[in-house]
Amino acid sequence: MHELAITESILRIALEAAKENQAKKVLEIRIRIGAYSGVVPQYIQEYFNIVSQGSIAEKARLSIETIPARVECAACGEITEVQRFRIKCGACGSTDVKLLSGREYYVDSLEVE
Ligand SMILES: [Zn+2]
Repeated sequence: MHELAITESILRIALEAAKENQAKKVLEIRIRIGAYSGVVPQYIQEYFNIVSQGSIAEKARLSIETIPARVECAACGEITEVQRFRIKCGACGSTDVKLLSGREYYVDSLEVE
């Protein structure tokens, strides 16, 4: 149900922004999702089709881009991008790392008319 809550907040943000711009219709919503946010992009589109029904964002296209996760290594100090499902330093292999990005998600921009 993680995705449903996120999808509802994406819809709310999109509708508020559309209202501010006096838009009649939301055509596309561009979203950025961290690789470690635990969000499955496919579910977002499916949920969106349901929660947006009857709103001006109904049938809007979602363009979802993944933000890579980055870690800072406590052993060597390097900042590297994390390979899928392996949270460790890309330079020395240490697992003593701090996640800098990759858990966030946000609405990047909207296309409206
Ligand atoms: Zn390292």
